Amino acid sequence: MKEFDYIIIGGGCAGLSLAYELEIYDKLKDKTLAIIEPRDEYKRDKTWSFWKVFPHNFEDCVKKSWNTFSVNTPNETKYIECKSTPYQTIDSGIFYQKILTKLKLNKNIQFFKNINEIDKSNSIIFNSVSNFENNQHDLWQHFCGVEIETEKDFFDDELLNLMDFACDQRNRVHFFYTLPFDKKNALVETTWISELNNQNLKDYDEQIDNYLSKHLNIRNCKVNFREIGSIPLFRPNKLKKTNEILIGSAGGMTRLSTGYTFLNIQEHSKYIRDNIENIKNVDLFKIKTKYDFLDKIFLNVLKKNSPEMGKIFYKIFDSSPETAINFLSNKSNFSQDLEIILKMPKWKFLKAII
Ligand SMILES: Cc1cc2nc3c(=O)[nH]c(=O)nc-3n(C[C@H](O)[C@H](O)[C@H](O)COP(=O)(O)OP(=O)(O)OC[C@H]3O[C@@H](n4cnc5c(N)ncnc54)[C@H](O)[C@@H]3O)c2cc1C
Repeated sequence: MKEFDYIIIGGGCAGLSLAYELEIYDKLKDKTLAIIEPRDEYKRDKTWSFWKVFPHNFEDCVKKSWNTFSVNTPNETKYIECKSTPYQTIDSGIFYQKILTKLKLNKNIQFFKNINEIDKSNSIIFNSVSNFENNQHDLWQHFCGVEIETEKDFFDDELLNLMDFACDQRNRVHFFYTLPFDKKNALVETTWISELNNQNLKDYDEQIDNYLSKHLNIRNCKVNFREIGSIPLFRPNKLKKTNEILIGSAGGMTRLSTGYTFLNIQEHSKYIRDNIENIKNVDLFKIKTKYDFLDKIFLNVLKKNSPEMGKIFYKIFDSSPETAINFLSNKSNFSQDLEIILKMPKWKFLKAII
């Protein structure tokens, strides 16, 4: 069986981002790479969004970029400018095509459907296949979104709605997320933070229909794309395995309070590329411990105070836009952390720590 210097298990966001990063920085000129990916064809399956707090390799896959977003509870709306760190959305279909086209040019890179097709005994393995156990008390962000097309111009495509809490909460945390790509096309997503097994929250299509017709007043529209997913808001069991480096969601790249993962994956890929020659001996790349610490407290508060979380999320944006965005994108300094902490209801947070 054939041997490779490197093996990437899972050719999804993290696996392909890493392969691309290694390829464009010439790390695969004299090294071989096998990518293990079971899917038969790549097509658009996800929409990845984030504040662009640092440059990344996929500017040409950006479907839309916004300089303003809004957040609202049933009683209040806030409009927030983010010109210096625009909110960007990447189309996964374009992302996959761009990377696959580039990787195909290098004969040192081969794709396989199953790890058993190759000899992995002497390879360095990067594994993005999740090993999350679904404990009934763990929190997940789960969601369903549809990209709709209206008959007439409807959306203000300069403004995305990050969180709209003016919806049925069912004693959990629920908001709608709307990304208007142009005046007629938008992704409208119903998003929950809760345990994953709660079937009472999974009437996603009905929730979206209601929101479109009763809240947005859209009666006629075409659905062009649907995405459904869930992001674990807890760490996988083991971040380190013998002879294996975990990457992507499996490698702890998700920010626990928000589910944002895409840019962390890009940062992890850069770290691996910088250290590839000595990767077995360097420290494991992690999201800073302070964020895990603060996020776990935040999620404890969330578990006990679900109906009030809309107001608490809203309070994060009482800080300056730069502070809120840096904090949510793991780029905040100490004084920005403090600014956010001081906005939070102190008693609830103290109770969550004790
Ligand atoms: C629908 C959706 C939308 C999201 N939106 C955002 C967002 O807006 N912003 C953000 O920051 N994050 C977002 N996330 C979170 C995160 O960015 C994505 O989940 C991202 O795809 C994680 O990358 P990954 O490589 O870890 O996992 P994946 O992209 O899921 O890749 C894993 C790959 O492993 C393959 N695989 C599965 N089993 C095996 C096996 N046994 N052997 C080999 N390969 C296998 C799969 O086919 C897949 O290609 C979203 C997640 C989902 C599900």
